[in-house]
Amino acid sequence: MKIKFLGAVNTVTGSAHLIEYKGKRLLLDCGMFQGKREPTEILNRNMQGFEGIDAVLISHSHIDHTGRLPLLFRNILENNRTDVFIYATNATVDITELLLLDSAHIQEENIKYLRKKGRIPSGKEPLYTTSDVEAIKKFFIKKDYEEVFEPIPGIKAKFIEAGHILGSAQILIKTEEGKTLLYTGDIGRQHLPIIRDRRTVKEANVIISETTYGDRLHEPYQGLKKHLKDIIVKTVKRHGKIIIPSFALGRAQEIIYLLHEMRIEKEIPFIEIFIDSPLAREITQVFRKYHNIYDKDAKSFFHKFGDIFSFKGLTFTSSVEESKYINSINRPIIIIAASGMCEGGRVVHHLKQNIENYRNTILIIGYQAVETLGRKLLDKNLSTVRILGEEYIKKSSIIQLHEFSAHADKNDLVNMYEEKDKTLIENIFLVHGEERSLNSFKNTLLERGFKNIHIPQKIGDSFEI
Ligand SMILES: [Zn+2]
Repeated sequence: MKIKFLGAVNTVTGSAHLIEYKGKRLLLDCGMFQGKREPTEILNRNMQGFEGIDAVLISHSHIDHTGRLPLLFRNILENNRTDVFIYATNATVDITELLLLDSAHIQEENIKYLRKKGRIPSGKEPLYTTSDVEAIKKFFIKKDYEEVFEPIPGIKAKFIEAGHILGSAQILIKTEEGKTLLYTGDIGRQHLPIIRDRRTVKEANVIISETTYGDRLHEPYQGLKKHLKDIIVKTVKRHGKIIIPSFALGRAQEIIYLLHEMRIEKEIPFIEIFIDSPLAREITQVFRKYHNIYDKDAKSFFHKFGDIFSFKGLTFTSSVEESKYINSINRPIIIIAASGMCEGGRVVHHLKQNIENYRNTILIIGYQAVETLGRKLLDKNLSTVRILGEEYIKKSSIIQLHEFSAHADKNDLVNMYEEKDKTLIENIFLVHGEERSLNSFKNTLLERGFKNIHIPQKIGDSFEI
């Protein structure tokens, strides 16, 4: 068996790892690179190494693990192959379809806009279009967690809970000779709301693991509700609004669940809550559909109070008119809108409307990459920010909560390794991390007695195992 690393090498995006076994080629994830537009675009368009794929297994629906599926299948279909399938858990398939359509739509709109402004040549096409996404839908095959199947001859595979987002899985494959390979996908942190904790996989000969936070620790989750309560109570006292930029997947559902709980516990005053994101609304539908894979607490909440994502005063808006109506409301409300880093989506309009009022709070709950509007909002050295071409003074209070993260931190990752049968591990490959995190985590594992730890250095690096 041979492994070839086609992405997430010395970086956290573009996950794609190829397994070659007895003349067949099995791809683990097919992610998009994200970051600065031009360099990532070159990486994304280069599909070298992806030729002749026989099957694809997807760990979870985040775009950095799925975003190049439409490109891959454009090539596969051009070669008249209709026998290549994409395997993933039920929830992952549903969410992946929504996210890919959304991503294609955004790309189409961006290209139109840039072309109009004369910033790109007229022949330039998006990476993929909504019709590319529609074309791959029939190649998805849904699998239950723990269901064993044979994606290529001689290899048995199954999906095991990874505890990262709804539907997320570690992938365990076993060859007919009995060699096992575990690909962790993204590992979640323990005790996330709604999402089950990852399941331990004790036995694996080869491990490909993520190391996103291999050198860092998260703030404990326990203090979150109190922080959230304080922020809401204070803002309501000032008669202000609370604007929460949020990813449509995961973060949005978590915060709805928390607010629902706090409402039942009478911890927060009654104010209306608007989820102003059509994508979040659609993804929430998928959460409703798969309540069988909630964690214990969310299941018992569901049995006691019914749908987690419906309660008095909670509104999912869809049309632009509804979105505009929210701005005309003149009383304390909570607005949750995408995108998470404020780089587009409806949240931008809400920020524009509300940032110059000292009564309001902008609550940042997710990671904000360098150069994004979200990061500029948090930058204490900046007194103004540019939103949609205009300068605004930061008068509202801007608060960041650090407790939200769907990723395992260093301790979680170490625990995951310590739970394994060390004597069986032959090779460990560290991917999906920045250089500092990869090296630091490698040292941590070495200190704990793990051996044969490799960090692939460039795209295309391969290892015989
Ligand atoms: Zn992820």
